[in-house]
Amino acid sequence: MKVIQNYIGGKLQAPQNKMYMDGYEPASGQVYAQIPDSDEQDLQMAIEAAEKAFPIWSNLSALKRSKHLRKISELIEQKLPELALAESIDNGKPLKLASSVDIPRAVDNFHFFATAIEHFASESHFMEQTAINYTLRRPIGIVGCISPWNLPLYLFTWKIAPALASGNCVIAKPSEITPMTAYLLSEICIEAGLPSGVLNIVHGRGAQIGQSIVAHPKIKAISFTGGTSTGKHLARTAAPMFKKLSLELGGKNPNIIFDDCDFENMLKTTVHSSFANQGQICLCGSRIFIQKNIYEKFKDAFVAEVKKLAIGDPLQEVNVGAVVSKEHQAKILSYIQIAQEEGGKILCGGNKFIPSSKRCKEGYFIEPTIIENVGYLCRANQEEIFGPVVTITPFETEEEVLTMANSTEYGLAATVWTKDLQRAHRVAEKLESGIVWVNCWLLRDLRTPFGGVKSSGVGREGGWEALRFFTEAKNVCIKY
Ligand code: NAD
Repeated sequence: MKVIQNYIGGKLQAPQNKMYMDGYEPASGQVYAQIPDSDEQDLQMAIEAAEKAFPIWSNLSALKRSKHLRKISELIEQKLPELALAESIDNGKPLKLASSVDIPRAVDNFHFFATAIEHFASESHFMEQTAINYTLRRPIGIVGCISPWNLPLYLFTWKIAPALASGNCVIAKPSEITPMTAYLLSEICIEAGLPSGVLNIVHGRGAQIGQSIVAHPKIKAISFTGGTSTGKHLARTAAPMFKKLSLELGGKNPNIIFDDCDFENMLKTTVHSSFANQGQICLCGSRIFIQKNIYEKFKDAFVAEVKKLAIGDPLQEVNVGAVVSKEHQAKILSYIQIAQEEGGKILCGGNKFIPSSKRCKEGYFIEPTIIENVGYLCRANQEEIFGPVVTITPFETEEEVLTMANSTEYGLAATVWTKDLQRAHRVAEKLESGIVWVNCWLLRDLRTPFGGVKSSGVGREGGWEALRFFTEAKNVCIKY
């Protein structure tokens, strides 16, 4: 049994109340870890440690902070196999995905912001013969970073790295469903010699320790990634204290396929964008719209390709692993049921999956599922399912597909497949979405603004956007 500890004031510590929760391995359905059920007392200790560390950390040169972060990045890279295995066991994702995407991205997150801070500059505004203004950007103080379970270390570090690089001290909380790699990150920070109190990681339930972080008056900014309803709740708590908020929330992303696309490339990528990480990536394209004259061709080819996906023990050579929890499995299956009640026809999948390996018999698996004949305003096409389930819907015109694509409350990411450059620009401009990929998916440049519109969030992460979020701007005006 692995026992996770909080990381407070540079030390690994048991929760003050000595309470732990069970941590499950999704592939086996068995308890394999104990997770601190931290409360206010642990948060208070973390706040005190961060307050003590802040004057020193915030006044270190950017270069010195950068060196600390680069060391962390190097250690994550050195421990990639161990971290990838831990991520796969904790989350249910295929080991090869954790090894090729999740952990390398955590390495990149620290490296990217370690170097970015050395190049970060602010503006000056010159008033002819009168004055010069310059923008002073200083760290905020103590900030909170709260992340979800789908890309555990990847998203945790995506917040922590820019917050630390900018000179803040951080109180971070990973998802209680997948806390293992955040715990291993604490060990790495100790090994890297990160000064104590600069980063504090407290584990526990969202409604308890998460809520306390958001409500604490000494935490001046919150960077949150998670569900839209949690985001709403969080905003209600934080808004009266005028905290800075960055909210990365749910999605229901359209994947729009025009008849002039590069069919082979589109098909290969669409299988991936539908079912990577069991469809549990906020950027997955769960509503696939296909132009009518290639609809039947697409349907046959897509179903055939999806049927070839290997599903099973994530520690083996598979394409699809387990979904993250028993509750999430039940939620996904309930949406498959809803889609059928709404007239949907299942073309493949639709059920729980029981792998042949003995250790996975009680695991939380679902067959990759394709459903057609669901109206675009139906619940299965409007609400986030966040699992290996996609719908396919034909369309005739650009106007029609834009209406359908923009019909949800969400607006995180969209994918467009066409060889017509004019159309690509036109459609990208009209999509209500924070991110549009044309003829590709999940091609990421960490300098670009990342985030959603409508109920998919507020604010942007990535590049300068993140460094601006984690600093306060002050204008200094000097008269000649
Ligand atoms: P969630 O909202 O249940 O939990 C996210 C985090 O918030 C967890 O650490 C949780 O413990 C914490 N939390 C829960 N209640 C809280 C509260 N009252 N106060 C403070 N913290 C609280 O989300 P989840 O189920 O872990 O993740 C899945 C969701 O995340 C999906 O909706 C998905 O689309 C979204 N997501 C969005 C992005 C993005 O970039 N927009 C990326 C990944 C996942």
